[in-house]
Amino acid sequence: MADAKRLLIRGGQVYDHDGNVHKPPVADVLIEGSNIVAVGPDLAAHGVEIIDARDRLVVPGLINAHYHSHDTLCRGMFEELPLEMWLLYTLPMGANRSKEELRVRTLVGAVESLRCGITTVQDMLGLVPLDEPGTDIVVQAYRDVGIRVVFSPMVWDIPPIAMVRNRDSLPPDVREMLGTTGRPVRDQLDYLEHQFKRHRAKDTLHWAVAPFAPQRCSPKMLQGCADLAHKHDLAVYTHVYETRGQVLIAREQFGAHDGSLISYLEHNGLLGPRLNIVHSVWITRGEMDRMAAANAGIVLNHLSNMKLKSGVAPVCDLREAGVRLGIGCDNCSGSDVQSVFQAMKLFCLLAAVSEPEPGPALAHEVLRHATLGNARTAGLAGSLGAIKSGYKADLILIDLKDPAYLPYNSAARQLVYTESGRGVETVIVDGRVVVRDRKVITIDEDALRREVADLMRHFIADYDAIVSSRKRALPYMLDVHRQVWEPDVGMNRFIGRIGDC
Ligand SMILES: [Zn+2]
Repeated sequence: MADAKRLLIRGGQVYDHDGNVHKPPVADVLIEGSNIVAVGPDLAAHGVEIIDARDRLVVPGLINAHYHSHDTLCRGMFEELPLEMWLLYTLPMGANRSKEELRVRTLVGAVESLRCGITTVQDMLGLVPLDEPGTDIVVQAYRDVGIRVVFSPMVWDIPPIAMVRNRDSLPPDVREMLGTTGRPVRDQLDYLEHQFKRHRAKDTLHWAVAPFAPQRCSPKMLQGCADLAHKHDLAVYTHVYETRGQVLIAREQFGAHDGSLISYLEHNGLLGPRLNIVHSVWITRGEMDRMAAANAGIVLNHLSNMKLKSGVAPVCDLREAGVRLGIGCDNCSGSDVQSVFQAMKLFCLLAAVSEPEPGPALAHEVLRHATLGNARTAGLAGSLGAIKSGYKADLILIDLKDPAYLPYNSAARQLVYTESGRGVETVIVDGRVVVRDRKVITIDEDALRREVADLMRHFIADYDAIVSSRKRALPYMLDVHRQVWEPDVGMNRFIGRIGDC
């Protein structure tokens, strides 16, 4: 590409997963078009735009392997609710919203992500209605702001109420609040395939296939997703075993598949290298081994799992089983933040309280999960997640003059344990500078703030109406939630109590 734009990031400390992760050496990074073409000391600099990276750490762009953009406007609205009760609010607040809101909420999540050093989001969007105008708005918003997206509008044919165990004990109007209507399989698969053609995967747009969850999809839907993923060479993401109730649903309703959602996925052609199951808080050791043997992946979301009272994923067992791992930040209504820094820190801390012996998970390992591992979940290994010649130019410059690095002793450890996102100064995605001096420069952040303030007047009114209509459901939902804790499932995923919980 003779006329491709060239950018030289000069004199930064360039983080290399395989090099000195504590004190990366000073080097230059040369970018041509969307790719890194050279990394090394004193690269030639004629005819290029130069970014001075002295006193900066140059780090591979962080990847968020699990996220939903549909409820970014709900951040800070909820706490104390277990997942099934939280669904009462978050499902309706993301559905049937205006075009303006669709664009704004997509940008809100993207701006927060970029400002926190996330260069790629895997957006498992709950798009309701699942239609082309909505798809176009979201794709265009991502394009405008310049973040890389692995886009996968979720599909399902079994209604949301299927996520609740003992749902038959709920009154009909409470069941209705969660959703009791399915959607046709063929329409959704055709819709997806059509979008892959209308918006071809290129530059910063990538596609994936996302059946919502095994218990929300019939065999026909899962097989259709497997076929689509195979035909278009795409990754698959699906929610599995987020809560204790979901294990019981598997055991009670999937007897034909050994009571295992992993077996159900396997039976329908999805257990394999393309598959990523999201959460896996309540997965058994046997199921982990099967995932590892199939080279299927698991995307951990400690932030939302803990806040929604789902429990702590068995990170040490997953590591021992050798399952490939990614990490995500999940919904803004369930974790309230798009910060891979927080997710990385929790990963290491929860590993620490799960195993008394000295040893991993170490900071430089979780940095691999958040970059190379997360790229692998999307089938983008070899092009994302490292600062190497031939890789996409997705990287961040961290200001080493930030107090988080005073004193500066270890890049890997201080990125994971100390960095809040405050040090993220410059962000480059696909060779394009999208954050400069800690501000997104591709869109007008101040204008976005004004638009959000404007939209929130209606949004809050709708939210208040939902909250008051859901009051009646809460005692019933609490009842079914408590019933989930009665049977023994042979696993414990809670900590912080004397004795077993
Ligand atoms: Zn999710």
